[in-house]
Amino acid sequence: MSIKRVLVTGGAGFLGSHLCDRLVAQGEDVICLDNFFTSQKSNVAHLLERPNFELIRHDVTHPIWLEVDEIYNLACPAAPGHYQYNPIKTMKTSVLGAINTLGMAKRCRAKIFQASTSEVYGDPEIHPQPESYRGNVNPIGPRACYDEGKRAAETLFFDYHRRNRVNIRVGRIFNTYGPRMHPFDGRVVSNFIRQALAGEDITVFGDGSQSRSFCYVDDLIDAFLAHMAAPDSCVGPINMGNNREFTMLELAELVVELTGSVSKIVHRDLPADDPRQRQPDLALAKRELGWEPKVALRDGLEKTIAYFKSVNLEDFRAPTPNY
Ligand code: NAD
Ligand code: UDP
Repeated sequence: MSIKRVLVTGGAGFLGSHLCDRLVAQGEDVICLDNFFTSQKSNVAHLLERPNFELIRHDVTHPIWLEVDEIYNLACPAAPGHYQYNPIKTMKTSVLGAINTLGMAKRCRAKIFQASTSEVYGDPEIHPQPESYRGNVNPIGPRACYDEGKRAAETLFFDYHRRNRVNIRVGRIFNTYGPRMHPFDGRVVSNFIRQALAGEDITVFGDGSQSRSFCYVDDLIDAFLAHMAAPDSCVGPINMGNNREFTMLELAELVVELTGSVSKIVHRDLPADDPRQRQPDLALAKRELGWEPKVALRDGLEKTIAYFKSVNLEDFRAPTPNY
């Protein structure tokens, strides 16, 4: 089999760096492109000496000329505190980033995967969420820059597919966690683990009865690779995540137990438009990709806690004051 030239935008981020690891290990010729807004080079430093890995500092809102066979478009701030910091830039990153990478895919006849999100379902009225559900997004709320940006990106992907026969794949990712999450991204898993290890109060927003379904990063990367390798007719959108659902209070209690922490659970105001519940319907992923998640939350959290224990928090710059 010939070596593929693969571009990963957002490749130095949490998910992107794990994807680069897997592609480099498979022997592909990998280009990691990132502007380091919410990540740092340390996530991919171990790959810099590899002959089949290249790192480019670039912003996806600007065009770039590369020759590639496959593109994974992951560049976009993903944590609420990050994407709300500069909402107009977030929307530009989704929309212009999609236009620029789709243009490249069209010119190079490359396959292109879009990292979409469960946020396209907004605060869902249907539970669990199948791909056919059209969502309940507030188009003018504080999460809209991300949710509507990702929805617009999906629109662009399908229009480039229909009008220009671009070979697309759209994956809708549900909450994913694991090593290399930014310790100051403000997402619930990183917050709770960081707080528990420091013996600080664990901040549950609202009464903690809102739910999420957490996927371990290795499972998710399997889904990305399976989708890229699937037949060209398998365009998606396809839900990717774990369908075991937990309340935020259950998550906080589990983190306290696994870290052996003395932290107390405290309650803070629930942010505006915070979805009440979220769980992927994974029937399509199973049928079309033969994929389902394997890692239980307890096991994945243990690995994530070990990672958080191994890093020096002073090495990390909080990307925004919103964590
Ligand atoms: P992350 O913040 O760690 O990674 C995003 C990366 O994109 C970072 O390295 C950041 O510096 C880079 N980036 C941001 N704006 C950019 C720009 N304009 N140009 C170039 N690079 C830019 O977040 P993540 O969790 O790894 O998310 C990766 C992708 O997956 C995102 O598109 C996100 O929307 C999507 N996603 C993630 C989750 C999740 O739970 N982790 C859920 C749904 C969707
Ligand atoms: N959350 C919380 N405490 C925190 C951070 C987040 O209770 O310190 C809650 C948040 O209100 C939401 C859930 O955890 O209900 C997941 O938040 P996150 O920002 O990780 O991702 P989301 O799924 O909301 O994009």
